[in-house]
Amino acid sequence: MAARDTYLPYGKQWIDEEDIQAVVDVLKGDFITQGPAIERFEAKVAEYAGVRYAVAFSNGTAALHGACYAAGIQTGDEVITTPITFLASSNCALYMGATPVFADIDGETYNIDPDQVSRLITSRTKAIIPVDFTGQPADIERIMNIAQEAGLVVIQDAAHSLGASFNGRRIGSIADMTMFSFHPVKHVTSGEGGIIVTDNEAYYRKLQLFRSHGMTRDEKLMQRNDGPWYYEMVTLGYNYRMTDLQAALGASQMDKLDRFVQRRKEIAAAYTEAFGGYEGIITPRQHPLADSSWHLYVLRWDEAFINGGRNHAFDELRSRNIGVHVHYIPVYKQPYYQELGYGNELCEQAERYYKQAMTLPVFPAMTDNDVHDVIAAVLETRSKLLK
Ligand SMILES: *Cc1c(COP(=O)(O)O)cnc(C)c1O
Repeated sequence: MAARDTYLPYGKQWIDEEDIQAVVDVLKGDFITQGPAIERFEAKVAEYAGVRYAVAFSNGTAALHGACYAAGIQTGDEVITTPITFLASSNCALYMGATPVFADIDGETYNIDPDQVSRLITSRTKAIIPVDFTGQPADIERIMNIAQEAGLVVIQDAAHSLGASFNGRRIGSIADMTMFSFHPVKHVTSGEGGIIVTDNEAYYRKLQLFRSHGMTRDEKLMQRNDGPWYYEMVTLGYNYRMTDLQAALGASQMDKLDRFVQRRKEIAAAYTEAFGGYEGIITPRQHPLADSSWHLYVLRWDEAFINGGRNHAFDELRSRNIGVHVHYIPVYKQPYYQELGYGNELCEQAERYYKQAMTLPVFPAMTDNDVHDVIAAVLETRSKLLK
């Protein structure tokens, strides 16, 4: 058994000298927050996504909160999302006093199942928050159709899918609002950071207000104007601003996005080729219209063939210094959600998925040797645990 001597994490940022220089330049300038780097970063992301507007936030969670505000989500509303996601996708509905409703996943793509979404729409439903889990876009065309028929807003949680597309259309250009995250494990990083992209000017204005205390100096929005110092608070907002340091790093990283995504695709293809056809391990199925940007690679371990299933395989791989992970625990199982009254095994497909799933390392700075280490360790583990 050939264990690595260093731990290989499941994800990691890649910062180069250009990125460092971009941040240093801001530090030497006049503005370290609320300066010109923010607008440059927003323009870059909007252009990449193919939309008119982008509003940067301090993190992706704050951005989702802003999108829920802009969508007009209120106490008593229902918001449909997936249970196989990070907590923020449904917490943002709770922030507005709304009720998250969990639609089960498709057992093959692990993304929210549009049929389950349709089934759960009520007169109280206000929005759908699909998540492009692992970087594979959810079936956003069907979800947009369902939403349009029912008069719902779609906020796409694309924290995993910057650089992905669906049916030839880039993610960011399809939903009413789309959120990207710039946390260090995501495709490009700003340290912490998030953004909402949209083509809708009304949403854009609301997002800007919400990000900065609900304050404005725009005469069209103010009731009066006492002078050049004057501002008005017209809604309850937060301090959710990104700094110029973060924006400069994010903008510099955006220049490398296509290269990063290309490398992620190569690594995912190497895994799928290496693991295809082995009984007991299941590689991720792709929707025919989805072009994933591979934030994560999930392998499932079938306990019918593998002694101890995913849990034993997880221990084996960690003991070989492979930083495998599990994304995600179904959100409704969290103690906080259990106290709100959600069933502990609410969604059948999500439960099955959660028992079997394991995330393998994928990040652009991985070397071919790292990839081979993962493949060798997975196949050794399978042989050792095969019934
Ligand atoms: C990372 C992530 C978020 C939140 O992003 P932060 O920038 O960490 O706040 C939201 N949803 C999903 C699916 C994520 O992976």
